[in-house]
Amino acid sequence: MGLPGHRRTSSHKRRRASHFALAKTSATECQKCKAPVLPHRACKICGFYRGRTVVDTARAAARLVKRLTAKKPPVPPQEHDHEHKNEKKA
Ligand SMILES: [Zn+2]
Repeated sequence: MGLPGHRRTSSHKRRRASHFALAKTSATECQKCKAPVLPHRACKICGFYRGRTVVDTARAAARLVKRLTAKKPPVPPQEHDHEHKNEKKA
């Protein structure tokens, strides 16, 4: 199995860690509703992007609510036209 050839010194660790910091995101302002918006993305509040409305936010919100409240219907036991060999019969 591979082993580290040399001990990593504290300065080596710190030099490597100097690149770990996350870059700060630059939010801009929505042209329509003045809400903070990430660059190259439609506004989440009003759906505005590059001079026009591209997202129907009312419909998007309704779909999100529907998705979050949706329940999966229970799967009914299916009929078989064959027998299972190792299945125990009740
Ligand atoms: Zn907006």
